[in-house]
Amino acid sequence: MNKKAFNPFEMAQAQFDKVADVINLDAATRDLLRNPIREYSFAIPVRMDDGTMKVFRGFRVQHNDARGPAKGGIRFHPHETLDTVRALATWMTWKCSVVDIPLGGGKGGVICDPHNLSQHEQQAICRGWIRQMAKNVGPVNDVPAPDVMTNPQHMLWMLDEFEVIHGGRYPGFITGKPVGMGGSLGRTEATGFGLIFTVREALREMGLKLADCTASVQGFGNVSQYAVRLFRQLGGKVTCVSCWDQEDQVSYTFRKTSGLDPDELMGITDPFGGIDKAKARKLGYEVLPGDAWIEQEVEVLLPAAIENQITGENVNKIHGKVKLIGEGANGPTTPEADKVIAERGIFVIPDFLANAGGVTCSYFEQVQGNMNYYWERDEVLGKLDVKMTAAFSAVSDLARKQKLYMRDAAYVIAVNRVAKACKDRGWV
Ligand code: GLU
Repeated sequence: MNKKAFNPFEMAQAQFDKVADVINLDAATRDLLRNPIREYSFAIPVRMDDGTMKVFRGFRVQHNDARGPAKGGIRFHPHETLDTVRALATWMTWKCSVVDIPLGGGKGGVICDPHNLSQHEQQAICRGWIRQMAKNVGPVNDVPAPDVMTNPQHMLWMLDEFEVIHGGRYPGFITGKPVGMGGSLGRTEATGFGLIFTVREALREMGLKLADCTASVQGFGNVSQYAVRLFRQLGGKVTCVSCWDQEDQVSYTFRKTSGLDPDELMGITDPFGGIDKAKARKLGYEVLPGDAWIEQEVEVLLPAAIENQITGENVNKIHGKVKLIGEGANGPTTPEADKVIAERGIFVIPDFLANAGGVTCSYFEQVQGNMNYYWERDEVLGKLDVKMTAAFSAVSDLARKQKLYMRDAAYVIAVNRVAKACKDRGWV
């Protein structure tokens, strides 16, 4: 699959079709689940700081809401496409299902690059997105959250606009809100920590000690930052992280073979996960090409950036020592690369299981908001660990019993639950 032709939605459909065959899904349910139930594409006109008007393009896709309101983040990305949002919405349906929370799948996006937008312009995009979607989202039908390059402040602006339009307080409309404004403690760490909970379980099943393992990580955004922290806290070593360099418009890998310190790196990282090269060199990091993270002689690889990163072109660069790939990002591995990984016997924790910690904690945020009673951080993270560990065990048990690839086993569980909900409701 060459990079230009890559279409994440075709990839999501190919993954689904494979499993639909395995579980013998009937034609109507297949039709229903391989496409979104509803989708919106709209214009967001914004008055820029220099007085000009600029029109941004926004999207929301609700893939399936048979098990509960659609749920999923809103991304700000210069290369956002409707097909990317369709794929991500589809993966959200499987994600909420595999961890067994009562939510469906949705995703949103705006074609924009927040690196080049003032706070005021970003606020206008958030409010404009809500003005277009206010009638079609809400606590009982579709609940947004942060994703790539969006954060709790964006969520609060969106909530405020929604509440202005609907005339009331609706904290259940959106998750990933700031703590103290309806947000949950632990939500920021949840995706990265959730990833490491599943990595810990996988290594245990494989008879490996996390404390003896070294990891190389792609990305240094929200997921990676907290995954690296917990991996180290559990005794492991992380030698590489990579990130996008806005100035050079390429990625770099930052390596310290003695083990990197995420707090030290955070001090020289911008809000989008971009690390300052010159300062990193001064702190003793090697600055290597973007792809270097994948070639490292480590036991654990954690792609935690964006989709389409482990492909037919670079999969053979994965070192023979690698035992485990934990997908912190959504859709990082193409089906072509997946085949090679499966043949090589590398254990994969598939994306919609590995990174389900974020949405699981979003669900806890909804529960706390509904009770208007907020839990301590340890309680949130303890419950998150229980959920992630249970979901991981269910998938790995099935994979072992039916000799399935981990991704396929996760799909079997997730798709079966959603198909049953659609059938039980009389939709198909
Ligand atoms: N954007 C995150 C994801 O891809 C979280 C979604 C949510 O919390 O609704 O899973």
